[in-house]
Amino acid sequence: MTDCIFCKIISGEIPSTNVYRDDQVTAFRDINPAAPTHILIVPNKHIDSVNMMIADDEPLIGHLFFVTKELAAKEGISEGGYRLIANTGAGAGQTVFHIHLHLLGGGPMKHPMG
Ligand code: 5GP
Ligand code: ZN
Repeated sequence: MTDCIFCKIISGEIPSTNVYRDDQVTAFRDINPAAPTHILIVPNKHIDSVNMMIADDEPLIGHLFFVTKELAAKEGISEGGYRLIANTGAGAGQTVFHIHLHLLGGGPMKHPMG
């Protein structure tokens, strides 16, 4: 996707603070952090949102979750607790239409669910 910010981050066209990279997923720090740790974990393959996942994406998304767990441990927030968010659709606050998981932690979570 030529006009996708996250595809451009994955390709290196737009700079980012990367914390993890393999052949399937990339993780980088959110440019506007909402918590002491705020990492975005994205598949290298462009998928618009959770709504656009296909059956073949299941192992990829499973891997993405596993990487997220390992990043939480690396950040030292596994024990203190963290929140994973996948905003889906504009009505839920999705602003970048390349599927991503927010990993938020490192401080007390007071933000309400809705
Ligand atoms: P969404 O609102 O779609 O769930 O989350 C998109 C996130 O991407 C936001 O938290 C926003 O701060 C982050 N973001 C948007 N543009 C960039 C960018 O160019 N670099 C980085 N690192 N984060 C970005
Ligand atoms: Zn993309």
